[in-house]
Amino acid sequence: MTTPATTQKLLSPEEIAVRAGEQLTFLHLPEPGVFAERAVRLRQLAAGHAMRDFLLFVAELAEAQHRALKAGVAVPLPTAEEVEAAATQGVPLLPAETWPRAPVWRESLRALLKDLAAHLPPGPAKATALQLAEASDEHLDTQAGRLLAGVMLGLDMAAAPLIAAGLQLHWVRLAQQTAAAHTGGPVAPFGRIDDPTVCPCCASRPVASVERLGAEGARYLACGLCGTQWHYVRIKCTHCQSTKGISLQNLVASDAETAETQPAVQAECCSECGHYLKLMHPARDNGLEPVADDLATLTLDLLVSEEGLQRHGLNLLLLFGEPDEAPPPGRGH
Ligand SMILES: [Zn+2]
Ligand SMILES: [Zn+2]
Repeated sequence: MTTPATTQKLLSPEEIAVRAGEQLTFLHLPEPGVFAERAVRLRQLAAGHAMRDFLLFVAELAEAQHRALKAGVAVPLPTAEEVEAAATQGVPLLPAETWPRAPVWRESLRALLKDLAAHLPPGPAKATALQLAEASDEHLDTQAGRLLAGVMLGLDMAAAPLIAAGLQLHWVRLAQQTAAAHTGGPVAPFGRIDDPTVCPCCASRPVASVERLGAEGARYLACGLCGTQWHYVRIKCTHCQSTKGISLQNLVASDAETAETQPAVQAECCSECGHYLKLMHPARDNGLEPVADDLATLTLDLLVSEEGLQRHGLNLLLLFGEPDEAPPPGRGH
């Protein structure tokens, strides 16, 4: 594909931000098909992949999440006063660590686990799902609390992706139902917040960033918990917000035949703070999905981490080893 020469001048990050504010949608809420699309992509990526079994397991999990989301279970929502207070203070409305988890999250997790188990062949994964479905309320909430706070100490690693799936389901419902209930109200939920690096809905770190199709190459950060995508200036560190020392790393570079092809997933690295976040280009690979493509590009993480860079992206389905003394490196949200 050739791009015609243009005379358009390069815009500064500030100019891009102003232009973006005028022309771009700041926020895209999770679509009803968020989990279904993830499952399709995971199955596609699993073919011939070194992590095939894990990707297929997560695809089963995403399909179970999709069935649960379709069932349309109502969750308790923030009041108009809470929406207004968050907007006034410039903070996320439904912060994952502190927003009270209604008991429905556990009921939904147990139903999800039983549904998942019914679709799995006999084996350790099925046994773990069934065992977790019988766990006490206290155990599920303790594990969820550790997961959301990034506390690795005492976290059941085998059960963590399953707990994460239940939390994703709950926060996608929260985001979608809150938007439906409050849009058109006195204060719209999920506007811009003071910290542009965290999810305006749930305060999570992004799993990756995405150049959205149809948005003139504008970059959005993708939340790995609630599935929201929010606009963030390009070529700017998503950890320390520096615009200096940003470079892109590719997995494939040396092969002459592939040197011309543009990789769909790159690592955006910051030499100021030493963190990186994956940058994904759906225009180069149709069907790309942030959570799925993050899992399938673990080799890029290994390559970049060998150079001493620290991962900024948060994928609750595949936790990276972090020091036992929580909170994790990076943001204390
Ligand atoms: Zn979120
Ligand atoms: Zn940085």
